[in-house]
Amino acid sequence: MDWLEGLEHIVRADEPLAPYTWLRIGGAAQYFAEPTTLDELRLLVARCREAQLPVRVLGGGSNLLVRDEGVAGVVVSLAAPAFAHIVVDGELVRAGAGARLNHVVTSSIREGLGGLESFAGIPGTVGGAIATGVESHGTGLAQWTHAITAVQPDGSLQVMLRKEWEETHQRSLLDSAVISEVAFQLERGDCRQLTQRMQQAWIVRRTSLPPAGLCTARMFSHPTWTTASALIEQAGLRGTRVGNVELSDRDPNYLVAHPGATSREAIQLMELVQATVREKLGVELERALRVW
Ligand SMILES: Cc1cc2nc3c(=O)[nH]c(=O)nc-3n(C[C@H](O)[C@H](O)[C@H](O)COP(=O)(O)OP(=O)(O)OC[C@H]3O[C@@H](n4cnc5c(N)ncnc54)[C@H](O)[C@@H]3O)c2cc1C
Repeated sequence: MDWLEGLEHIVRADEPLAPYTWLRIGGAAQYFAEPTTLDELRLLVARCREAQLPVRVLGGGSNLLVRDEGVAGVVVSLAAPAFAHIVVDGELVRAGAGARLNHVVTSSIREGLGGLESFAGIPGTVGGAIATGVESHGTGLAQWTHAITAVQPDGSLQVMLRKEWEETHQRSLLDSAVISEVAFQLERGDCRQLTQRMQQAWIVRRTSLPPAGLCTARMFSHPTWTTASALIEQAGLRGTRVGNVELSDRDPNYLVAHPGATSREAIQLMELVQATVREKLGVELERALRVW
């Protein structure tokens, strides 16, 4: 049986990926799929495995650099409404992997639930946040995560409780899975105070990051003792540019891609930053940006 049989309505070939990413550069996906239900997603993932087609998941594209030559296999987008739900049940908030993290933050606060305020203003989806281990001032999302539901490569659905993956170190099971839903366990709080904290986090982020409208992405994770931005600054790299890609003057840990930029230039700039910081400061920066 052809792997596409019955899935033709959700799969396109040769879909340019640049418009789906914050950097707006890079090539096309061999196949691009937008499942409209969880069952369709499970069937798609299982079929891809049978056909030996690699599967990649696209969230909000805020932490992605797609190579100029594009990607082989299937890129799955969870942009359909079936993956964007946010359901509040007591202190538990269940969110579809395609829901915007920012919507989860504001919906929780509206219900008087606190914990996620400091993540306000971080772009991307809930699935992307969990997959990339989003952090805000040294705090991760994990402490508020109760359970993750994910589709495994064989199409089976698995629910993992935080305490299970912490005890068994099975978090790696998520590496090849498609996260479909995340449940957050939050704490009751005062709506006004939570809103203030969220607004503060939002303002700090907006004023310290590259201005809205620029094609930008964050390059490196922060080491435990300092920030990647401080190390890049210390290495004298502020203002460095390769072709049409340069380091942001607001925060040098962010790339800015100007018109005509290529992914090759972005990769060269990241490698230059990594090598210079290693050479001058003896620190190995860990890349946060995913390269496809
Ligand atoms: C302006 C700006 C500010 C940022 N600030 C921060 C910050 O303060 N802290 C921080 O940690 N990060 C920050 N980031 C990085 C980025 O926002 C986060 O990593 C974000 O969570 C990525 O989510 P996304 O949906 O955009 O993922 P994408 O960029 O679409 O994907 C990133 C990775 O996650 C995987 N993925 C996405 N969805 C799923 C899923 N459902 N199942 C399995 N894998 C999945 C993708 O396959 C890919 O490998 C910032 C980025 C920008 C551009």
